[in-house]
Amino acid sequence: MSSTVIGVLALQGDVREHLAALEGAGAAARPVRRPAELAGVDGLVIPGGESTTMSKLAAAFGLLEPLRARVREGMPAYGSCAGMIMLADKILDPRSGQETIGGIDMIVRRNAFGRQNESFEAALEMDGVPGGPVEGVFIRAPWVESTGAAVRTLAAYDGHPVAVRQGNLLATAFHPELTGDHRVHAAFAELVRAAA
Ligand code: GLN
Repeated sequence: MSSTVIGVLALQGDVREHLAALEGAGAAARPVRRPAELAGVDGLVIPGGESTTMSKLAAAFGLLEPLRARVREGMPAYGSCAGMIMLADKILDPRSGQETIGGIDMIVRRNAFGRQNESFEAALEMDGVPGGPVEGVFIRAPWVESTGAAVRTLAAYDGHPVAVRQGNLLATAFHPELTGDHRVHAAFAELVRAAA
């Protein structure tokens, strides 16, 4: 029996879909907007959306430093798409002033798949997610341009890492919260339980 609670950073983006996917995976989930709410969760999902807006709102809500501190202390976090960008130590084409939480030693390229391919789906084998390929939904998705030695690539598409893990931090360029398949969220919930 475990009583871990997973937060979903609820500043902008597909918050509801992540809350529903976590609950579908059997995890207790709640939105996080304030530092006090962040302090009450065992792990955090950073949703898809628009990383430039999320970055501004995180700063405006006084969440950027508390988020960095929790990540440094080892709190498990999972970012999808814009959330992957938020967990990257470095982004290649930031908007001016765009800051990330960081934590994963990787360089991420925003909107990497370009115009013709702004949105697409691809079946992906993902390490740590048994039971066959996951349906990768990519929406103006980033890819991982390069990774440090501590980063493990869990899935790749077209030669680029699109799912990675470093310690308790997990990130996907795609959106499992939109597919009704909760295996990625279940894997993250397991990681949160193991870390608690
Ligand atoms: N392109 C967006 C960004 O840079 C991410 C898109 C998404 O989350 N679907 O933040």
